[in-house]
Amino acid sequence: MSFEYHSGRLHAEEVALDDIARRHGTPCYVYSRAAIESAYREYSAALAGRPALIAYSVKANSNLAVLALISRLGAGFDIVSGGELKRVIAAGGDPRKVVFSGVGKTEDEIALALEAGILSLNLESGAELERVDAVAARLGKVAPVAFRVNPDVDARTHPYISTGLKQNKFGVAYAEAEKLYRDAAERPNVKIVGIGCHIGSQLTRAGPFVAAAERMLALVQQLDTAGITLEHIDLGGGIGIRYHEERLEPIGAFLDGALGMLAGRKETLIVDPGRSLVGNAGVLLTRVELVKHGEAKNFLVVDAAMNDLIRPALYDAWHEVRPVRKTGAPQGVYDVVGPVCESGDFLARDRQLAAMAGDLLAVMSAGAYAMTMSSNYNSRPRAAEVLVDGRADFLVRERETVEELFAKERVLP
Ligand SMILES: *Cc1c(COP(=O)(O)O)cnc(C)c1O
Repeated sequence: MSFEYHSGRLHAEEVALDDIARRHGTPCYVYSRAAIESAYREYSAALAGRPALIAYSVKANSNLAVLALISRLGAGFDIVSGGELKRVIAAGGDPRKVVFSGVGKTEDEIALALEAGILSLNLESGAELERVDAVAARLGKVAPVAFRVNPDVDARTHPYISTGLKQNKFGVAYAEAEKLYRDAAERPNVKIVGIGCHIGSQLTRAGPFVAAAERMLALVQQLDTAGITLEHIDLGGGIGIRYHEERLEPIGAFLDGALGMLAGRKETLIVDPGRSLVGNAGVLLTRVELVKHGEAKNFLVVDAAMNDLIRPALYDAWHEVRPVRKTGAPQGVYDVVGPVCESGDFLARDRQLAAMAGDLLAVMSAGAYAMTMSSNYNSRPRAAEVLVDGRADFLVRERETVEELFAKERVLP
């Protein structure tokens, strides 16, 4: 494991987190290279022997160092904006291994993707097909396209991260898919390359994932009959991680189930994991500013806040909080809160912890959807990011300064 105690001090690989706090300050995200690589290897091992592409979902953690590391493992990328495409290219990623998802790609973003030569634009509506066709025609290009189909499978996850139901904004209706493919096949400036789905995030059981693969397979066979052949089948991401007491099926169980469904098919299998590659590979390191004894509750007021990690406020998510050093501080039951002016500004509630002012805490499982969802609310500069590799730690994003936050603002003359 990448985050463990040695002689009473919590480490990231071989580097003590209190040393990182001393060198880089707090709050600070700390990532482990070994943890990312070992999660990646679970995917590559399960997919060995089959034409497959692991397209890391950039929105989970888009730091250039993380992207570069994952790119060097041979991965492609799943992106949802032109900004993410520019990040992938800046990190040395191969645009020919990029799939572009999302319901609202702008004309500029589509043009950027076509100029870069990406693998597939995953379309989410007939309107988007028309737009992509028009942009490609204007540029004299042929756009590689897939449809993201809504398999109408209940992912059994939090409603905000469930995406594969009829009432969600994502994907095209299953029953509409064949008609859209026929339409696409008629257009000279698009080339059909694949099909995709993504049913939601933080899935704990393989069942819904495999059910979605089965629904996709039925559609692929239907398209075959209509004379429409595909180069890839993209089953999305969504495999969960352990934050608390989730009982998770291993990555291999998800992929083996899907591979079983697709046995005998020649199309490349694409998966686009985000959280499961990086989520447990990061922590948010924070310092206790003070201990506040309230009327009904006791609080550890820390220097990280909801702007650094919004998941507890947004999804009611549970993150483990660990003391970085086991000190002699008295045990208590605390809410761990930040200084932001919102009652929703909490990182953890009702936790048994031994900590006092000045102590360091590690908020675990903060490698995914933490920094990428951060904001500058309350004019808080975003935290530094550090990547640990064995005995070395690298500052991979400097802490922002307050001056940078308002550098682009102007007052009236
Ligand atoms: C967000 C997203 C993913 C990644 O989801 P995780 O739950 O982080 O694995 C994969 N594919 C698509 C299309 C997405 O939007």
